[in-house]
Amino acid sequence: FDLESIDLSECIGETSQLLAALVSKDVRIEFDLAPDLPAIAADPTQIRQIAMNVVLNAAQAIGDRAGTVRLRTRFVPDYDAGLTLEGLVEGDPAPPYVALVVDDDGPGIEPAVLQRIFEPFFTTKDRGHGLGLAAVRGAVRSFGGFLHVGNRAGQGAVFSFGFPPAGEAL
Ligand code: ADP
Ligand code: MG
Repeated sequence: FDLESIDLSECIGETSQLLAALVSKDVRIEFDLAPDLPAIAADPTQIRQIAMNVVLNAAQAIGDRAGTVRLRTRFVPDYDAGLTLEGLVEGDPAPPYVALVVDDDGPGIEPAVLQRIFEPFFTTKDRGHGLGLAAVRGAVRSFGGFLHVGNRAGQGAVFSFGFPPAGEAL
């Protein structure tokens, strides 16, 4: 696939209607997209597919209840010595990177599920395929980015992605 120099906020913003269509009417979807992000080297189609997979999972985790799915973008220029990443990390979370953080207020992820969450065909759903996050991991790797999966301090799951600024990509 082709890597282009793209603005992550624009890429997510352009697909906000599609993402909103994935969640039920009782679920709020919030976009908090930082302006003026450094460009990243990525394939916009794959970025959209990542966001769709993660938002769909969040919507399914919330289920029939009311809830919120939130998408945020930020530039993280420097190492944060106070940052501890509990959960599962794929790739190297070394700044600088452009971050996409998707969180929900569903039930969160149990430790036994978290361990296997990227395994192809691993699913906890009756009609799941278990391929969404395996594909997400593959896409993130291909950009030289990282992916962190964990739980929120309150309730719900958090998926954080880091993409190297264009020019720093592997
Ligand atoms: P599928 O959606 O087909 O089950 P995925 O690879 O997309 O496959 O997800 C694998 C599993 O990860 C899900 O079955 C679910 O148990 C767990 N999961 C993913 N996202 C969330 C989330 N936001 N909250 C709770 N569990 C999640
Ligand atoms: Mg899925």
